Order: sequence, then C-alpha cells, then structure tokens
Amino acid sequence: MAIFVYAESHDGKYKKAGLEAVSYAKSTADVAGDTVTAIVFGNTPADELYQYGASKVIKVENAALAKFDANAYAKALTELVQGDIVVLPSTNEGSSIAPVLAYKTGASLITNVEKAPTAVAPFTVARKAFSGKGIETVAASGKVVVTVLQNAFGTKENAVSGSEETSSVSVSDADVKVKVISTELASTDKIDLKEADIVVSAGRGMKGPENWGMIEDLAKVLGAATASSKPVADIGWRPHAEHVGQTGKAIAPNLYIAVGISGAIQHLAGVNGSKTIVVINNDAEAPFFKAADYGIVGDAFEIVPKLTEELKKYKG
Ligand SMILES: Cc1cc2nc3c(=O)[nH]c(=O)nc-3n(C[C@H](O)[C@H](O)[C@H](O)COP(=O)(O)OP(=O)(O)OC[C@H]3O[C@@H](n4cnc5c(N)ncnc54)[C@H](O)[C@@H]3O)c2cc1C
Repeated sequence: MAIFVYAESHDGKYKKAGLEAVSYAKSTADVAGDTVTAIVFGNTPADELYQYGASKVIKVENAALAKFDANAYAKALTELVQGDIVVLPSTNEGSSIAPVLAYKTGASLITNVEKAPTAVAPFTVARKAFSGKGIETVAASGKVVVTVLQNAFGTKENAVSGSEETSSVSVSDADVKVKVISTELASTDKIDLKEADIVVSAGRGMKGPENWGMIEDLAKVLGAATASSKPVADIGWRPHAEHVGQTGKAIAPNLYIAVGISGAIQHLAGVNGSKTIVVINNDAEAPFFKAADYGIVGDAFEIVPKLTEELKKYKG
C-alpha cells in the first residue's frame, strides 16, 4: 500500500514544508518498500513532486476546497487516502488537518517528527520530548497520521518517474465549518519565519524596540526572517508572531543568529533544531554559548552594525 502525503501548495507553488513532507513520505516508502502518492488541492504542476519522490500525484479541484478549512480538507483526504500512513507538513494547515483526519479515519496521530521511521508496522519513530531535552521512541500500530516538523527533515531530491491523475471528492460547502467573512491583507514583504533558511533573532539585550533597526538591517542583508525571545514579545517590543521557543514558534533554519538572548531552556526548545547557531552576547557565561556553533562575546551594539557592513561589502 502506498504512503500518502498532503503536498501543501498556495497560488500554484508548493510550500517548502509541503516538499519536506513529500521527502519524508519517500523515506518512509523506502523503509516500507513501497511508493509515494501525493495529494494536491488545486492545479499546481506535479513535476516538482516527482523530483522529491512522489510516483503518483492526485489532483483535486473542488470549489469547497478553494479556501482552507480543516474539516473540508480532512474529509477530502479521508476519501482519497487508501493506505495506512498519511504524512502532512506541520504548517498551520497540516497541523489543523492532522487531528481531524486521524479522528475521521481512526488513526493514531504522531506529531512533529524529524527523522524517518525505523519500521512502518508498527510505525516506529524517534521524536523530541520534554521541549527537546529528551528523545522518545514511539510505535503506533494500524493507521497513522504523521506531521513533519518544518525545516528539520529537510527537502531531499529523489527523482522518480511519476504519473498524474485528477480525482473528485464529495466535499461541498456544507463541509466548510469555518466561513471566512472577510480578509484584510496587511501588505508585508517579510520572510515567513517558519520557512526561512536564515533567522536573525534578538532578545532583551537590545534594551528597547527603538534598537531593532540594526537587527532588521542584518536580516535584510542576509535575506533572513526576524525572530525574538518571549519577554520581548510580552513587553510589546516585537509582535508575538516573532516569538520563538517552547511557548512560541519552533523553527529549524540552516542558520540562527541570536543577539542579546541568554539562551534559557524554554528559548532553546524552539530553536535547537537549527543547523548552525551563532550567538552574540556580552556575557561570556550566557548559557546560549553552550548550544552555539559559533559565539561572539561582545556588545551587540558594536558587533551587529559591523557585521552588517562587512556582509554588505562581501555581497557587493
Ligand atoms: C513556562 C515558560 C515558557 C517560556 N517560553 C519561552 C519561549 O517560548 N521563548 C523564550 O524566548 N522564552 C520563554 N520563556 C522565558 C525564558 O525562561 C527566558 O526568561 C527568556 O528566554 C529570556 O529572554 P532573553 O534572553 O531575551 O532575556 P534575558 O534573559 O534578560 O537575557 C538578555 C541577554 O542579553 C545579553 N545582553 C545584554 N546586553 C547586551 C549587549 N549590549 N550585547 C550583547 N548581549 C547583551 C545578556 O547578557 C543576556 O544574556 C519561558 C518561560 C517559562 C517559565
């Protein structure tokens, strides 16, 4: 039986997290000795999914699926999935669909996996526990719905030859439980924090919101998203959407630059999956240095503008 995956796409483009989920499904299929079937809502081209290991792509066009609704999407997936394992990205969409889908199909739910399973029957996989302080190995027999932590497993090209088909589902407006009354788009050219390859993050060491210009300048020159520690968002220096950690967003970029952040365990819980961590802090004893790949002991107000200048020169 194939491994099924929800390939999340928007405006004709796959989300990076959607491609990660397809990569994860391919690794799972390799363990199972099987193939991957990707499900796409809309008409996003299938070719890219073959690149990441999907042998079959099922496209569904249905007016009731035009706007995201967890119940309608889960119902459609329930009709299309013909296997015991369904993989979704841990995006807002994927994380909302997964529990509804698990309930509807009587499946077990395993969230935020980062590594391929070691077995598929029962589905056995190691995942982080206790805010990243430990690893637990879980095994679920029967059907299983799995969400893949964003930026942790990574996108892995694994080209296969694939085929595409269109399918219909019996989902209608009556299945859409949350109706969108109106949408106001705040125009922003900001990079999505959860999708970002590079994140520049800052904490209370910045002393006040008026000093964030240098963090934004550094982020701009690196093409990075900006993030913050929790207290900074709590005081209102930065929007809560930027808060990372145990109670904020969990991210795993290729490069995480932490400026004036002490490195409390609750902060690390959301960022310790980052590939490379650079810490800038004027206290050599700051706990963050223990988790850092590179550390600069010094005043952020001197170092950050210099770093930005050097990067500009390097890029120029
Ligand atoms: C249940 C619970 C959940 C929590 N969840 C989260 C969470 O999700 N995310 C989170 O971030 N926190 C969380 N916290 C809070 C966490 O414990 C820390 O209090 C918080 O992370 C500290 O934020 P900070 O590092 O910005 O500030 P501080 O701890 O005040 O550290 C500021 C750092 O800046 C450095 N600094 C000062 N001046 C300069 C300078 N000029 N140049 C360079 N460095 C300088 C200091 O040496 C210090 O290390 C949680 C706490 C609890 C109890």
